Amino acid sequence: MSKNGLNFYKSVQQNFAKAAPHTKLSAGLLTQIKACNSVYFVQFPVKIDDEVRVIDAFRVQHSHHRLPTKGGIRYSSQVNQEEVMALAALMTYKCAIVDVPFGGAKGGVKISPRKYTTAQLERITRRYTTELVKRNFIGPGIDVPAPDYGTGAREMAWIYDTYQVLQSGEIDAAACVTGKPVGQNGIRGREEATGRGVYYAIRELLNDVSMMKKIGLDVGTDGKTMAIQGLGNVGYHTGRIAQMEGGFKITSVAEFEGAIFSEQGIDIEQLVMHRKETGSILDFPGTSNMRDRTQTLEVACDVLVPAALENQITLENVDRVKAKVIAEAANGPVTSDAIEVLLKKNVIILPDMYANAGGVTVSYFEWLKNLSHMRFGRMEKRFDQKTYLSLVNLVEEKTGSVISDKDKEILARGADEIDLVRSGLEETMVTAYHEIRDWMNVGNDISDLRTAAFVGAIRKVANDYEDRGLFP
Ligand code: GLU
Repeated sequence: MSKNGLNFYKSVQQNFAKAAPHTKLSAGLLTQIKACNSVYFVQFPVKIDDEVRVIDAFRVQHSHHRLPTKGGIRYSSQVNQEEVMALAALMTYKCAIVDVPFGGAKGGVKISPRKYTTAQLERITRRYTTELVKRNFIGPGIDVPAPDYGTGAREMAWIYDTYQVLQSGEIDAAACVTGKPVGQNGIRGREEATGRGVYYAIRELLNDVSMMKKIGLDVGTDGKTMAIQGLGNVGYHTGRIAQMEGGFKITSVAEFEGAIFSEQGIDIEQLVMHRKETGSILDFPGTSNMRDRTQTLEVACDVLVPAALENQITLENVDRVKAKVIAEAANGPVTSDAIEVLLKKNVIILPDMYANAGGVTVSYFEWLKNLSHMRFGRMEKRFDQKTYLSLVNLVEEKTGSVISDKDKEILARGADEIDLVRSGLEETMVTAYHEIRDWMNVGNDISDLRTAAFVGAIRKVANDYEDRGLFP
């Protein structure tokens, strides 16, 4: 049994237990919600060079209260059953919070992707998919994987292709997996979705007058400082968008190879280019290298964004954390005992199950697109454009004022897929934030966002069970 995975699983259970009494639900129902419905463990052989290697893999479906179940697939040498169970449970609550009508699931393949060639990774992915198909653990109405740590659009395309070959004639095959490349029935905006969602969550919190009063921070995002652990898909887009759209100053970034700091701020786009060229974030002009990579977690900043893996802030280092706000872009980056210490220190934590829900939200849009077999915006874009233009022309005619062609273009624009995806994502994150705040205010004596989010999520899942009963 893995200690790391076990700790993570215990953390999720402890956070659940803290929220449970506020839901006023029966012990039986709470146990039903908490339980992992199906755990599939498989060991499959793959030919690597001239030898046969046996690989451990998992798929956990935490809750079947809504179908399909949904959640990413992780490739990491640290993958273990407890970790995948914890991540699957988080997916259930995450989907409930943002009203994405899925149950939670997660997959894991115990490999270090760096140690395999592209061809070998493809073989592993296709074999894993085949195992899932054989066991009925994948399908548009059954269980829909997506990218997670160590996987991306490339792996999702292999999964899609394998599924389609094995389930020939299935018209909705593309909806068996999300996070696919845009040219392979993916959706625009999926790649940035988790990071963009993290940014919207931070923005909503920083614009919340009473929450900012609690921690003595000025309202708004402009000029606020941010430190980011992890420059992968989530950390990169969070930083890029926070900088471009929110006016944040990124003062520290940590990656596998080390950490850097700059009082003046770090340009994330340029840092990524520097890393591509040199293979490292270190020695980036205008910044100083830090002693070791964990120091980013300890810099004094307004918002700390742990965007790597679970169990990063623990009882060991929590006392050195100086951030006023922590936005959990990764799943489970703060252990449950460290959370209690931070709350006592008056730190506000945007919990993972809300903060990083942007990924699954846009996955939901991709799934809908696949089922409708049509790109969002295709039907209405030109019609809207013509209607808006007539309106603008009418205003011009009636008021006698002249509207420039450039302004007309802006005012009379029909929405493209990317516009609709971003709009849907923003709406989802904003609505969910205020829903969580409402849960804090219902006189339940809830003082932190995670407990409020849990209470809301548990109640939504409970509603499904209560309304529909048990069969058989
Ligand atoms: N792996 C992502 C997460 O942890 C995305 C899941 C999905 O899109 O289904 O939320």
